[in-house]
Amino acid sequence: MSLYRDSAVVLRTHKLGEADRIVVLMTRESGKVRAVAKGVRRTGSKFGSRLEPGSYAALQLHEGRGELDIVTQAETIESFRRTREDLSRLGRAASLLEAVEQLSEDRQPAPRLHDMLVGGLRTVDERNPPLVTGAFFLKLLAAEGVAPELDRCVGCGEEDGELALALDVGGVRCRSCGGGRPVTDEALAVARAVLGGGLNVALSLPDGSLTHEVESIATTALELHVERRLRSLQVLHDW
Ligand SMILES: [Zn+2]
Repeated sequence: MSLYRDSAVVLRTHKLGEADRIVVLMTRESGKVRAVAKGVRRTGSKFGSRLEPGSYAALQLHEGRGELDIVTQAETIESFRRTREDLSRLGRAASLLEAVEQLSEDRQPAPRLHDMLVGGLRTVDERNPPLVTGAFFLKLLAAEGVAPELDRCVGCGEEDGELALALDVGGVRCRSCGGGRPVTDEALAVARAVLGGGLNVALSLPDGSLTHEVESIATTALELHVERRLRSLQVLHDW
């Protein structure tokens, strides 16, 4: 059995037996890894609370024989203390963890995804801006190469005039191409800013109907992508 070290965010945990837990990790070097943390649920465990969902830790792991590795050491890198004490932050952090779990592949190295997640959790902890989840989802889709096309009609390329939101076909559509649902110019502008280098402006917006609209666009786009991905995986397995 070989030992390796990596930094990781804990995405999710499940109970295992009386005292152990399976932890799903977004590691920096090895992608998504499932591992067993032995004795973690006993009082006085050497792991303490370092392997809870949202924990960011430096780990030492043993490569297991099957698909589960074994966590042998865990040191906190960042504790995100404010997040643990605040329901609004906890909810947003949980959305980030869930999105990364859905988009990451087992043992496919994705250092950028790991780093984005750490950055997102840090932003939640430090500032908790209203649009952090929505902006994170859009950035995640962009990193995957599947950001929605919000600048021009996906049917004909028209940039001017009234655009409607048609995320199921990949972005916005013009009036003559038809379809889609109404979207405000302001929400489109904010979503474009997130995708185009204006993240900090978007994150400074106060909570309100505009941030809610952008978050809804981002959530829908992410959900459609995850469904499409699950469907295409299903097709592969059916073969
Ligand atoms: Zn068009």
